[in-house]
Amino acid sequence: HLSKLPKVETTIFTVMSRLAHQHKAINLSQGFPDFPTDPKLIELVTKAMKAGYNQYAPMPGIYSLREVIAEKIESLHKKTYDPEHEITITAGATQAIFTIISTFIRPGDEVLLFKPAYDCYEPAIVVNGGIPVFVQLQGKEFKVDWSEVKNKISSKTKMVIINTPHNPSGTVLSKEDMLRLEAVLADTDIILLSDEVYEHIVFDGKAHQSASRFPGLAERTFICASFGKTFHNTGWKTGYCVAPKQLMEEFRKTHQFNVFCANHPMQRAFATYLEDASSYLELPAFYERKRDAFLEMISGSKFSFTPSKGTYFQLLDYSAITDESDVDFAKRLCTEYGLASIPISVFNVNNEDNRLLRFCFAKKEETLQKAARILNTTQ
Ligand code: PMP
Ligand code: GLN
Repeated sequence: HLSKLPKVETTIFTVMSRLAHQHKAINLSQGFPDFPTDPKLIELVTKAMKAGYNQYAPMPGIYSLREVIAEKIESLHKKTYDPEHEITITAGATQAIFTIISTFIRPGDEVLLFKPAYDCYEPAIVVNGGIPVFVQLQGKEFKVDWSEVKNKISSKTKMVIINTPHNPSGTVLSKEDMLRLEAVLADTDIILLSDEVYEHIVFDGKAHQSASRFPGLAERTFICASFGKTFHNTGWKTGYCVAPKQLMEEFRKTHQFNVFCANHPMQRAFATYLEDASSYLELPAFYERKRDAFLEMISGSKFSFTPSKGTYFQLLDYSAITDESDVDFAKRLCTEYGLASIPISVFNVNNEDNRLLRFCFAKKEETLQKAARILNTTQ
């Protein structure tokens, strides 16, 4: 009776990174770059520290950073957020997500989300007494069945969580998907949590369909973003969320007692760095080259795949190699072959037939080559 989360174990990211370390394996499991963040950004942080920005930031984040975020969203998605009331800087997207869920979810409230689901949503719902209601994404392209969504929405549904681009599948929601969602949520009070941490990693010339582009969604939506993903510094744990004023007021009531504020010197650095839009506009091409190079390197292997449409993850299907479970095969690939990945069943795929592993390609060319050499010889 002690535990509110009896089913929760150590996250797979900790487990696989530890296993990778023990076996000196190449680590394509936990999603983080193995190349450095821009030295200019490090200089800006150092400068901020030397200038004395070492005490608490204002509770919602420094104003200049909120302002550049508002400008970025306006230029990309033609939606205006008021930096004063509608943007809050957070200690990464994870904190934003947890705070949003605890601010609004009461015991018995239903939260609709999609499987496979990034692993931080469900525990946050359950610890607050909410009930997760899952909709399985369909087929190799991980498509949403919107009629199923419609059927699963009830008078108890308080929130819907989407994630585009999607971790772990690398799929993206299209404009048509977003319009369907807008129609499903019309005439309800349902809050939308749109996890858009990979907003700047969308491939093949496509535009990211942010919830902020759709008025019927934006009016009810928290969008969560992460500088860690965009600027190659996941360890800095800095991100933000945006929402209409009324929702953000409630969020800040919890946020101020949850962390009070995100760290100050990093905020100073990002405020200056974001003034140059090339820092994020060049990201899709940067990661698309990595995706293409990685897939080219393993084109002769026994793994099959549908190229990732966004994020820095690629799923590989190993059914031509073995019928082991994904957890067993991921462990064997790590301990016997020296390559760590993530079995996607941990993202709530309770499908016995799942034969997919997730590989992070936010890696240096030489790391990807070493990984490919292993994948090309895996039997
Ligand atoms: N959402 C998704 C889909 C993610 O993949 C991640 C982390 N990798 C997060 C949220 C958390 O972001 P952060 O590291 O900024 O807390
Ligand atoms: N989001 C990262 C991933 O999917 C991991 C973050 C974490 O370790 N919690 O790999």
